[in-house]
Amino acid sequence: RNLLRDQLLKAHELTAMLYHFLLKNSDHGQPAMEYLRQRGFTDKLIDQFQIGYAPNRWDTLTQFLTKRGFDLSEMEQGGLLSMRSDESGYVDRFRDRIMFPIWDRNGKVIAFGGRMLHDGQPKYLNSPESMLFNKSRVLYNLHHAKPSIRKAHQIVLFEGYVDVIQAWDAGVTNGIATMGTALTSDHLNHLKNQAEEVVVCYDGDDAGQAAAMKAIPMLEKAGFQARVAVLPDRLDPDEYIKEHGKERFRHQIIEGAVTPTKFKLIYLKKSHILLEDSGKQRYVSEATKLIAEIQSPTEREVYLKELAQQFPIFDYETLKQECNEFRITL
Ligand code: ATP
Ligand code: MN
Ligand code: MN
Ligand code: MN
Repeated sequence: RNLLRDQLLKAHELTAMLYHFLLKNSDHGQPAMEYLRQRGFTDKLIDQFQIGYAPNRWDTLTQFLTKRGFDLSEMEQGGLLSMRSDESGYVDRFRDRIMFPIWDRNGKVIAFGGRMLHDGQPKYLNSPESMLFNKSRVLYNLHHAKPSIRKAHQIVLFEGYVDVIQAWDAGVTNGIATMGTALTSDHLNHLKNQAEEVVVCYDGDDAGQAAAMKAIPMLEKAGFQARVAVLPDRLDPDEYIKEHGKERFRHQIIEGAVTPTKFKLIYLKKSHILLEDSGKQRYVSEATKLIAEIQSPTEREVYLKELAQQFPIFDYETLKQECNEFRITL
């Protein structure tokens, strides 16, 4: 048995309970509660995700852990406390932040993500890597989502905690997120055998769309069927739900998620100027190259027909011929 590990797990469990209690029951917690309400967090969601608040003080958690006999240098190693800059002792690492506990796949709290209530940097402060917490492996909400993932044979992958939680509230209970890091093959190894399909539902901004482009080949390489949920107007999932409602999120965005080829075509289109014939020609040629990579002839035909419809200056037969020429060079 690893005693340090046991101590850290115990401390994280108690800390999550403390922050959750302070959010709901202390005067300090009131502005945080107000903030959460404004963002559409119901009491039920706050309980289900054990959301908490770390007060704007240096010693709330430090005193709490001291009283319970924890070794403060161990707590610092575990990322709950920080060393004072003059090294004279320990202080709380998280102050004046909304606290999202992060669980391992057995539901044990192993880290926290802390969000500022106000604008400022860094917006999110996560626990540092520790004996408990490995950022490139942990997936937020996996233990909650597991039954739903098994049932639907599908995983929905988000960027942020808030997206996972608000999607859950909208009925998408198979959602998980990476810890603000890019998807790694470590993550995917964890997920193998749990689902056949992964729907990537990243933010609609440029960063999110670029990250989705990168995720597709990784998912395919790991043997998943990939689809991409496309959000309009640079919205992120949480913002979309606020603006367009839960139903539309489920039906149009999640159920309407597109195939990788379709998503690549959408992505490609954004980088071309389609007002002039030369721009159209370049786009259509690159699009045809993408379509050429599809194995199924019927699927290729569907995309080529669509492309010919969108760009009537090109004939379907010509596109098909160009596509076949690309296939020869594959
Ligand atoms: P919110 O809706 O609360 O503003 P978000 O999830 O939309 O949050 P994004 O800026 O889209 O925030 O970032 C996505 C995820 O990336 C966050 O949930 C968080 O895990 C991580 N992240 C964002 N900013 C930081 C940061 N400064 N440091 C560490 N991680 C961050
Ligand atoms: Mn983002
Ligand atoms: Mn976002
Ligand atoms: Mn957001």
